[in-house]
Amino acid sequence: MTALLEVRGLCKSFGGVRAVDGVGFALHAGEMLALIGPNGAGKSTTFDMVGGQLRADSGSVRLGGVELVGRRPRDIWRLGVGRTFQIAETFASLTVAQNVQMALLSHAGRVFSMWRRAADFQRGQALDLLDQVGMRAQADRPCGALAYGDVKRVELAVAMAHAPRLLLMDEPTAGMAPQERGGLMALTRRLVVERGMAVLFTEHSMDVVFAHADRIIVLARGQLIAEGPPQAVRDDPRVQAVYFGS
Ligand code: ADP
Ligand code: MG
Repeated sequence: MTALLEVRGLCKSFGGVRAVDGVGFALHAGEMLALIGPNGAGKSTTFDMVGGQLRADSGSVRLGGVELVGRRPRDIWRLGVGRTFQIAETFASLTVAQNVQMALLSHAGRVFSMWRRAADFQRGQALDLLDQVGMRAQADRPCGALAYGDVKRVELAVAMAHAPRLLLMDEPTAGMAPQERGGLMALTRRLVVERGMAVLFTEHSMDVVFAHADRIIVLARGQLIAEGPPQAVRDDPRVQAVYFGS
């Protein structure tokens, strides 16, 4: 099976620091891949190079065969790479539905000739998306009034408005109560299965990683030191050395 995302020989230095040093991996449609490693390992830098927020010094990032290195974040987003952030961002004064409608309008891009019908059309579609993330009942509440775990769900609906082929999630469960984390990841899994989307996520909580990733890649000092299914990675002596100093 051809990979949706193919990363090869990715490098990025900051001054004298090789933050990412020859990282390569593949990600298939319908797969949830976790990127883990200790602080400073190069996770965020790798992530930002895939999303285009940072430009790689060298190496290649291909989505469906199309090279992303050198493209602007906006263009990478247009090509089908969505993103959620470590600190969920929504417009607090807009309602839940309006946040999703804005995302749908933005996705529609130049089709503003339809603006007269847009408000209603987008509302129906927004409610469908909110249904999928379990937030339809709260559609008309301002986002600023929501619990943080619910803001995360809205953020996911906003990302889905663009129908991404690949969703990058930076520490999706950060700031959430432990009992809310499984729900958000299960929801993400459902979207992956239903849409054939792929997810690349970084995550601090090992419980979340081992419970929800199909495959894990481990970075240390900018290099990939292990890759495989959760059980194999957990038992890998190199990973244990990095995490537990054993
Ligand atoms: P992680 O996300 O795994 O904690 P990062 O990708 O943020 O790691 O950082 C990898 C290395 O690159 C670290 O040594 C970090 O200090 C360095 N680094 C990251 N971003 C910058 C930057 N903008 N300027 C200078 N050094 C950076
Ligand atoms: Mg980081």
